[in-house]
Amino acid sequence: MVLITAAASGIGLAAATRLSREGARLALSDLRLDALEARAAELALPRDQLICSATDVRDVRQIEAFVAQAAGAFGRIDVLVNNAGIGRRGQVAGLADEDWRQVMDVTLDSVFYGARAALPHLTRTRGNIVNIASISGLAGDGGNAAYNAAKGAVVNLTRAMAVDHGPDGVRVNAVCPGLTVTPLTRKMRETPAVMDQFEERIPLARAGEADEIAAAIAFLASDEASYVTGVSLAVDGGLTAW
Ligand code: NAD
Repeated sequence: MVLITAAASGIGLAAATRLSREGARLALSDLRLDALEARAAELALPRDQLICSATDVRDVRQIEAFVAQAAGAFGRIDVLVNNAGIGRRGQVAGLADEDWRQVMDVTLDSVFYGARAALPHLTRTRGNIVNIASISGLAGDGGNAAYNAAKGAVVNLTRAMAVDHGPDGVRVNAVCPGLTVTPLTRKMRETPAVMDQFEERIPLARAGEADEIAAAIAFLASDEASYVTGVSLAVDGGLTAW
């Protein structure tokens, strides 16, 4: 069974949709329970194979409660998808404490807390973790310092956990999406000048679809990736190939 955080929208929802079609039982969480339940009702899953939980990933106790609820209901955890992440634009010189803290809490600390809570279960099932990082964790974007720092840390935490937990049979990987069509990027995608710049730099000359990120998540989570651990897979139309 698979846990996914921030699953009411975008990449988390696409991963839930893809994995439910492959027959996975799902425990989904999001800050917005109403939206999550509405989307989850459209999944091809019987109610006894699905849990929806209101979880604010800024709160370690809520993350721990979500993991415990899923493990209690299904008796096992096979995969944790740490998908929650937010950005607050700004350079270091102008970044407010509160913005830095929010980005770290949601984007980095939640990965640590989720993994720590799930690892005892994943060790029993020889399961795996897929962290949703970003190509912003592989380079500096310019004017996005907190997000770059948090996603860069997720990439290296992925490597650290792969090294530490490989001997227990637990794989840990990350997906690094490039520009992807989700509500998060709507404003950016509606600005033609920004999109022109992006499309010039993306070899495949378009933004990615959430389904294309979900395909990479499904691969890393599956036994098809049984010898893959510690990687951060860029799914970005070639943007980082430059
Ligand atoms: P989205 O805006 O479509 O969805 C984000 C979800 O996170 C929402 O359902 C929201 O309710 C939930 N959320 C926000 N704060 C939360 C909190 N404190 N606790 C629990 N849930 C919370 O976003 P998306 O584009 O699908 O992004 C998902 C992940 O992919 C993020 O980690 C993001 O950084 C990463 N990513 C996205 C892109 C992109 O271009 N869309 C690119 C690279 C990386």
